[in-house]
Amino acid sequence: MKLWKNGVFHTMDHPTATYHSMATSAGKIIGFDEELLNMTFDEEIDLKGFHVYPGFVDAHLHLLGYGQMLSRISLKGKTKKEILKTLEIQFKGTLLYAEQYTECGITKNDLNAISTSVPIYLRHNDYHSLTVNDVVLSMLDVSSESGILTEELAQQAIDLFPKFSSSELIMFLKNALSHLYQYGVTGGHSDDLYYFNGFNDTVKVFEMVLKSMPFRTHLLMHHRTLHDYEDSHKPWLDQSNYLQLGAVKLFYDGTISSMTALMYHPYQGTSDHGLRVESPEHFISLIRYARSLELPVAVHVIGDLGLDELITIIKAYPPKEGVKDRLIHTPYMRKETLNLLKGMPLSIDIQPQFLSSDLPWAFSRFSKIPELCFPWQSLMDAGIVLSGSSDAPVEIPNPLLGMHAAIFRRSSHDEKVYFPEESLKRFDAVKLYTTTSQIQSLKHDRGLLKQGYIADFSVTRLDLFSMDESAFFEDQIEMTVIDEQIVYRRLHKS
Ligand SMILES: [Zn+2]
Repeated sequence: MKLWKNGVFHTMDHPTATYHSMATSAGKIIGFDEELLNMTFDEEIDLKGFHVYPGFVDAHLHLLGYGQMLSRISLKGKTKKEILKTLEIQFKGTLLYAEQYTECGITKNDLNAISTSVPIYLRHNDYHSLTVNDVVLSMLDVSSESGILTEELAQQAIDLFPKFSSSELIMFLKNALSHLYQYGVTGGHSDDLYYFNGFNDTVKVFEMVLKSMPFRTHLLMHHRTLHDYEDSHKPWLDQSNYLQLGAVKLFYDGTISSMTALMYHPYQGTSDHGLRVESPEHFISLIRYARSLELPVAVHVIGDLGLDELITIIKAYPPKEGVKDRLIHTPYMRKETLNLLKGMPLSIDIQPQFLSSDLPWAFSRFSKIPELCFPWQSLMDAGIVLSGSSDAPVEIPNPLLGMHAAIFRRSSHDEKVYFPEESLKRFDAVKLYTTTSQIQSLKHDRGLLKQGYIADFSVTRLDLFSMDESAFFEDQIEMTVIDEQIVYRRLHKS
């Protein structure tokens, strides 16, 4: 039995509920304060007045994609000139793959100037587009003036790659998890099973790595992996203490930056409203397939029109009793959509960091600004469960940055606050990443500091409920604990 003492334990049951000591045993919370008076402990850990919250959980990210991004050339924040310079330096005569490119006018001609014999890929920061050179275009047998490929074609270009070795995937995952530990993250809901080595090999990689690196992992199952899931005869949800298989991942539309999110009003200067990734008939057949296996769906949707269409479809094909679907993203909607969503058996995985990253430039893509933009308080008022996430590698999977965006709604570009009436209270913002991000695990012992709950917790230097705004950008994490084991501890210089 372990005693964790001299901390401020925020139970997340109520904004002011705190304790000063907590006991854990066999991975579970045993009790607090007075309940511990006559107990004896094998180990005592002094938390030195730090603040303790239920373990941070990221409700939507790509663990392998994040680990892969960490191992590749990043173009984040670079100008066109800097990018071309970087590519020139990094080009070693073999395939070149760079990530986190923000569209700034690079075309296939710029990339052809680097090589006309080996493939060059720039992966856009929304992960829905690529800019490639002529080598890739001719491998795909498509023509493009700009070299920009979106959605299905972008995926086909990525699929030209040979499979990854298991040891590469293990390296990606280990690297991702060790970064997440440093952000205080103890669990995540990840969409990885389609993009690498297919369902079976990818699940094996997770099983292997999680033996030595605990992390509460919930894997969405991309619709193209469903036959493999069926053939595997694996149960739905729990595979082990650390691994679950979750809802069926589908895409309804694309993104704003690729101008593929399905919008009521056309994109600025065009008659283009975006697109449906699947035809309506095919999308319905995919939902029906998921339902035939009694599975919920987790649907990517960004446009306001896309969201309304999706709601109509889901209402016609609801999930079975006791499970909830999930909508991923939903930044833009009409006011009336709030009424449509009320009472539906679903939760929404939001990415507060998208507000700080995407505004105001996203507005410049619209011919008309949608009625509601990132309407988190309105969604909560409508009784809809919101879970916090980063969509890493799109955003940095640091929950404090997400909480900051949910509370302050400040653009990182112009420092302006957008729609302050939609700001969340601190308690609610922290809940997004602790309590409600556990809802889709369907476990009743996660997301609070409470007797009988799992001993997963994140320890911060300052109090998230009262620290200064600027402190959210500082490294606050002192310790990350999963299943009662300390997986990360800050080294203090003595
Ligand atoms: Zn995603």
